Amino acid sequence: LAFSLAACSGGRGGGAPATGSAAAEGANKGALVGVAMPTKTSSRWISDGNEVKKDLEKAGYKVDLEYANDSIPTQVQQVGNMITKGAKVLIIASVDGTALTDQLETAANKGVKVIAYDRLINGSPNVDYYTTFDNYKVGVQQATSLLTGLGLVDESGNKTDEKGPFNIELFAGSPDDNNATFFFNGAMDTLKPYLDDKTLVVGSGQTAFNQVATLRWDPATAKARMQNLIAKSYSGGKKVDAVLSPYDGLSIGIISALTGAGYDSKRSGSKPLPIITGQDAEVPSVKSIIADAQYSTIYKDTRKLAVEAASMADDILTGKTPEVNDTKSYNNKVKVVPSYLFQSTVITKDNYQKELVDSGYISESDLK
Ligand code: BGC
Repeated sequence: LAFSLAACSGGRGGGAPATGSAAAEGANKGALVGVAMPTKTSSRWISDGNEVKKDLEKAGYKVDLEYANDSIPTQVQQVGNMITKGAKVLIIASVDGTALTDQLETAANKGVKVIAYDRLINGSPNVDYYTTFDNYKVGVQQATSLLTGLGLVDESGNKTDEKGPFNIELFAGSPDDNNATFFFNGAMDTLKPYLDDKTLVVGSGQTAFNQVATLRWDPATAKARMQNLIAKSYSGGKKVDAVLSPYDGLSIGIISALTGAGYDSKRSGSKPLPIITGQDAEVPSVKSIIADAQYSTIYKDTRKLAVEAASMADDILTGKTPEVNDTKSYNNKVKVVPSYLFQSTVITKDNYQKELVDSGYISESDLK
């Protein structure tokens, strides 16, 4: 590899071929790689795009990086254009995991390989590789941190004597993002015993994925739903004690609805903010965690994901077979897509410094 996986501390390591830039010598020298990202409204995707581009360019490839503004037709068009421009590999974080079937068929007919980035592309045989995090586990971690925040389990994950009951509301991500159900299932499997014995009570009664999903992961949609839930299910002194939120952007919308309805801006006072989870360790939410508003987030080191995607592309373009570490979890309804999965970390006020700042993921000054 022209770029070094070792340069990214904690990268997959070990599996990288020790050769120099094979790309610089092979038939695919300087080949174009298309990188399709969903949106710039969330900083994680901006970093993802920049990192993938940087890693590919270091290895000698040309890169067409496009953002789709969360619009399905825009992404369909962008991917089509990449193929027309002669891209040899496509790295795609889809807006809607089922909308790209025709483009991917065109790609396959031209011998273009496809790597699904973070989000699985469903319903197409023409998805060659996938790299992501262990998404079910992310949901387990979100729910576990919620239980820890409520004092129902201790730091080692053991049940405490706390019995509740606590009022909880549930949010899930976008129904067209394959990850959203993985997060939700991981979380619900973890919360189930507590819901079954009524330690946790969903005040609104809304527990089905389609009742709690948030189209396009839109923070304003989550805020409006939270306002609605407060108005309908939390009158007369009844308080929300916890909110399962699958993504930092949604958590911000949810917090705004709660403070607007008179909850304290911290988890203090007579009407404290509930225990609220998140995902992506985005700067505004890490600040919120430091300020005792949001309780937790999930840190997924997207630098590793970017290195992995670029490495897979380089392997493909230099005639090697990309290394995978999971060949059973991600069935896209047509085939099981060979995957390389990374692990995520729960972040609270206790460990953000070590995990996020000391690791260089977020700079100290951004948190001021
Ligand atoms: C990603 C999450 C992200 C969400 C919203 C999901 O596909 O895996 O990290 O929070 O999209 O952007």
